[in-house]
Amino acid sequence: MPEYAFEPPKVVTLPIAGSDTLIPVRRVYCIGRNYAAHAIEMGHDPNREPPFFFQKNPNNLDASGDFPYPPHTSDVHHEMEMAVVLKSGGKNIPLESALNHVFGYALSLDMTRRDLQGEMKKMGRPWEIGKAFERSAPIGPVHLASDTGHLDEGRIALKVNGETRQEGDLNQMIWKVPEMISYLSEYFELEAGDVILSGTPAGVGPVEKGDVMEMFVQGLGAMEINVT
Ligand code: MN
Repeated sequence: MPEYAFEPPKVVTLPIAGSDTLIPVRRVYCIGRNYAAHAIEMGHDPNREPPFFFQKNPNNLDASGDFPYPPHTSDVHHEMEMAVVLKSGGKNIPLESALNHVFGYALSLDMTRRDLQGEMKKMGRPWEIGKAFERSAPIGPVHLASDTGHLDEGRIALKVNGETRQEGDLNQMIWKVPEMISYLSEYFELEAGDVILSGTPAGVGPVEKGDVMEMFVQGLGAMEINVT
């Protein structure tokens, strides 16, 4: 065993539904504007341009069920997304075999400091300050693809305090899950433990302290996240 100069960081893990086994996380990729109706609401052309990605940090994932309202913002938005967890990876993965790398799927949120993201966009700067903050990606337990099948259609929705705010269908993704995996693998080397947040349907908006968000994807069920 090597000696570390100080305590190494904890391995970030995700729970698996109905199991004590944990998933070690390696990277988190997020796709932007992957549902046409959301691209339009953000003022963009919904036509199929090449996909674009940004990253969150592995330890931004948070399976606790709480989302602490972050500092330096007054406009934190919910973005309901389906997370795709890989069990293997590689470079230049062909479209036809891309789904073989999927371990499972989970409910997740790409929480966004929209005011800070907006300022960065205006200045042509990176988005990290708006996207990759502490506990910015609430996530539910991972459901094995071998149990759920590959999820390419079905309702995706988010309620806030019991009221539906976001609603769409997984089949409205502009870039489908196999396409995202294949595309990413041309630019990055994917590995087991990589997580892809697959984009958000229309209806993003702000939350306040005390709100309760309820994530839903058909096939994965529902989970509440408390804004604390
Ligand atoms: Mn997003």
